[in-house]
Amino acid sequence: NEPTFDDAAFGEQHITKGIGRLTKHVFEDGKGSYITTDKGVKLLDMTSGIGVCNLGHCHPKVSEAAAKQCMKITHAQVNIGFSAAQIALLRELIPILPHPSLDTVFLWNSGAEAVEAAVKLARAATKKQNIIVMQGSYHGRTCATAAMTRSKTIYGEGHGPLMPGIFATAFPYYAQFGLPADTPVDKLVDMSLFQLKLTLSQQTAPSDTAAIILEPVLGEGGYVPAPPAFLDGLRKVCDEHSILLICDEVQSGFGRTGTMFAVEDSGVKPDVLIFAKGIANGFPLSGIASTSDIMGRQKPGTMGGTYAGNAVACAAAKAVIEVFREEKVLDNVAARSKQLFGFLNDLKNSGSKAGNLIQDVRGRGLMVGVQFQDADIIAQSQNEAARKKGGAGQIAPKVVQECVKRDMLLLSTSVFDVLRFIPPLTISETEMQEACRIFGESLEAVAK
Ligand code: PMP
Repeated sequence: NEPTFDDAAFGEQHITKGIGRLTKHVFEDGKGSYITTDKGVKLLDMTSGIGVCNLGHCHPKVSEAAAKQCMKITHAQVNIGFSAAQIALLRELIPILPHPSLDTVFLWNSGAEAVEAAVKLARAATKKQNIIVMQGSYHGRTCATAAMTRSKTIYGEGHGPLMPGIFATAFPYYAQFGLPADTPVDKLVDMSLFQLKLTLSQQTAPSDTAAIILEPVLGEGGYVPAPPAFLDGLRKVCDEHSILLICDEVQSGFGRTGTMFAVEDSGVKPDVLIFAKGIANGFPLSGIASTSDIMGRQKPGTMGGTYAGNAVACAAAKAVIEVFREEKVLDNVAARSKQLFGFLNDLKNSGSKAGNLIQDVRGRGLMVGVQFQDADIIAQSQNEAARKKGGAGQIAPKVVQECVKRDMLLLSTSVFDVLRFIPPLTISETEMQEACRIFGESLEAVAK
């Protein structure tokens, strides 16, 4: 246990083994789409720190706003008084939420905390208990949110009993039905809505069900957008049974899918919206938004937390919204999305050995998934070695490692064999070209 001057070795020794880690790099600096390590290696970051640094690392305007706030007041505790930084943020945030009726907000720190806040709100507002989640969902790693997470067993394994009262229903993702990638979306929507009917008649009665929660783009479960008809169907079921519809936009929110929030695309109004990650570009901030009626059903004192809606994080988040406006970030998402989809689809259709490994390219904006032709994936996800890796398939993790060798960070996801591109939304055309080149080379190396 001698102390060592090698930071990675020190980290390996003194940081919990409970953290799974993609690389042994030590990140020291971040600027835009690149991270520099303590050894001076410059990495192209196609992860944005898992969809957080949507404006790139250390966006000057965001960092400046945070630094300025640091000199004013860092901790304006919300159970003691109002925070000026929080009010200033909410004046900018509320107008960009996906529906004008979502005008009441509670801010917290992490995505999982915000999900828990939404569950408490739904229970208090409906006076019902049970929550329906989607098969393949990810909502966090706390005891409550691990219970709600159905993307991989690893998140709950060995940590039970988790929070009771959670029931899973089908999400319209072909792989979860064991169907081919070209299964018509209408069929998947019909099958999923039918499964929901069964869930409400076989598992949790509507009169016991407080909320249905979903990610408008299934994130850790495989980067699968929910078809608008599915969201529409969920809305109808929720209205019929006085169940709240909760959209977890922790990963899909803040411009990631080309609109400020992914649910906007469907025109469906959620009763509760959950946001985090991209809101403050790297500062810990999350929250929920709902109607004043629903939010008004909670008793004073039931919500709050020491760091809830920290002033520095709020100042950063206000700057984030201003940058979206001033730098026309969503226009860049549209252009770079077209570029990335163009490259991936061309590769898939090229007839090359590497291209033939690709089964499906999907997603929206710059939340893009690539699924591989890994037929035996379910079997693999149940074998011990694959489970130890977190369940991902054979090809994606190998491609990721080839990318890392070429100094690019990329993540795999889900029990299916899926890679996900989550670059900064500010990525330039040249940087995206470079990412495509590295990805192409890496896939070729795996296909050999
Ligand atoms: N919900 C979704 C959809 C997420 O993607 C995540 C994080 N990947 C969470 C909740 C949990 O957020 P956090 O890690 O900040 O607790």
